[in-house]
Amino acid sequence: MTEVYRRDGRLRLTIIGGFLGSGKSTWLRHQLHERSFGPVCLLVNEAAETSIDDLLLGGAEQVKVLAGGCACCEGRNALVAALLRICEKQDSTDGQRLSGVLLETSGLADPTAIAKTLLTDPVLTRRFVVDEVIVLMDAINGPLQLAQEYLGRRQIEAAERIIVTKIHGTPTDQVVRLVKTLRILNPAAEIEGAELGVPWQLPSDAAVRPYELPALPAFSEPIQSYRLDVSREAGWTGLSVWLSALLAARGDQIVRVKGVVESPAGRLLLQSVHRAVQPPEILPAVPANSDGAKLESNFIVLLGRGIDEKTLNRSWSKLVEAK
Ligand SMILES: [Zn+2]
Repeated sequence: MTEVYRRDGRLRLTIIGGFLGSGKSTWLRHQLHERSFGPVCLLVNEAAETSIDDLLLGGAEQVKVLAGGCACCEGRNALVAALLRICEKQDSTDGQRLSGVLLETSGLADPTAIAKTLLTDPVLTRRFVVDEVIVLMDAINGPLQLAQEYLGRRQIEAAERIIVTKIHGTPTDQVVRLVKTLRILNPAAEIEGAELGVPWQLPSDAAVRPYELPALPAFSEPIQSYRLDVSREAGWTGLSVWLSALLAARGDQIVRVKGVVESPAGRLLLQSVHRAVQPPEILPAVPANSDGAKLESNFIVLLGRGIDEKTLNRSWSKLVEAK
């Protein structure tokens, strides 16, 4: 379990996405009741569909309704303002110290766009870290949303954790097919099941095939993960220059970058969402209860589509050799 408060004092922002009806509020209410996220402020950007009173009872330290439209598009400024107000409150001596903010997004939000807002705001990026993007999908309507909705696929691609809900009562075959399809759409995400907020075992069946999704214009190719070994000396600066150039040229194809790189300052965590790069973060040396296994570093994982792995490696080698 991670520490309640980050050592650098920044607040963790957890973005919770998923279509209307995917069970975000139910799931959240349960997590708050269990205090899974520690002392948090809940920001709800949902069109009056959520019963705030219920949520209050659930145990969030603070609940705020984010009006002014969907936080990924027309309500962007309202989101920035709300986050800044939370910072101000934290800086004043009254009020409880928070470990983070949970943002329950509107059903129509693209979590990537929200993460970008945060990563590109010079003030917010010093106060917040996008800790996790959690996307819920209900087993009943999920297959259709993936087949028909551009946004459904965007949300799944943005997720670091996907929670499949409403499993109970849905034909097992359908759940298995959905889970297999989700794995293809986002090979890097953790996929879990939940029923009324409680973890629920996902069924499996080797014989069941994933759905064949019809092509949507922007999704002509499946997303893939590419791993690049960056252990050869290019130096931290060389790497960041190379990565900026890569994102500038291929930002549309690259959905996300995550990597851990050794630097003179320690192990650095590197993250980006499309073209927005989060300032690198120094990771703690070795976790307290480590079993002594050597921590992996000097690798970058790229999630994207239409990237040629050979070209990627060649471009990296060129940089190293140019040194
Ligand atoms: Zn939006």
